Amino acid sequence: MTHEPFDTLAATYALGALDGDERAQFERHLAGGCDVCEETLRESAEALAALARAEPRAIPPPEVKDALLRRIAATTSPRLERPQPRRLVWAVATLAAMIVGAAFTGTFVASRYEGRLGQMAREAAALRARVQQDEAALREQIAVYQAAVDLLRDPTTRVVTLHGLGPSPEATGRVIWHPVSGGHVFVANLPAVPAGSAYELWTIGDGAPQPAGLFRVDASGRGTHRIAAVQGGKPVKVFAVTIEPEAGVPAPTGPMVLASK
Ligand SMILES: [Zn+2]
Repeated sequence: MTHEPFDTLAATYALGALDGDERAQFERHLAGGCDVCEETLRESAEALAALARAEPRAIPPPEVKDALLRRIAATTSPRLERPQPRRLVWAVATLAAMIVGAAFTGTFVASRYEGRLGQMAREAAALRARVQQDEAALREQIAVYQAAVDLLRDPTTRVVTLHGLGPSPEATGRVIWHPVSGGHVFVANLPAVPAGSAYELWTIGDGAPQPAGLFRVDASGRGTHRIAAVQGGKPVKVFAVTIEPEAGVPAPTGPMVLASK
């Protein structure tokens, strides 16, 4: 098998948009050790970090904005599409240019035309706020994936499958678990919990189930949650999720919706 499909998967993965079988396939590939994909993910993390620091310091003159927009137009031209391994850096650079461009636009409109074009200024500000929100969410997601990828490099890390039970047979989940570092749970197809409730994760070893944190799912039924290591590094035999009051409980009381075998 050539490496080519993984270039595209790496780019999508780095932007937090890979799921299902493709994600599992890519994570397996990464767990097997791949310098090319690791480099791609590292470069993307750096690009996003640079993006986070790239707060425009002052109002740029119009020619700067024009040059920027010309560069974006050139970058997005299909004629200039570069070979696959550069694709991710290219995608991140385009995203960065768009975000910076949107911020510049907002600053211009607000400073020069606010009196006459108040409506446009408000729209630009709303766009900028939305872009910043999306960017923050993207960075958070990438940080979670990066942590999971780091864990997967360790051969003692296990990937445990969770199966849907009772009220949510369609639900699925994976726990990436390291006995000393703890891990992350990734769930999909879980319905939203009723108001006043939350999903609670449990680690079960030889004794009673231990609470391992509360989490919620988004509108598409997906969620992630960081799991702290078990005290004393005691082995975990089963991971389970129940529906509990939103403040959490010390021992499970509600229906079990996900569990490992
Ligand atoms: Zn690779």
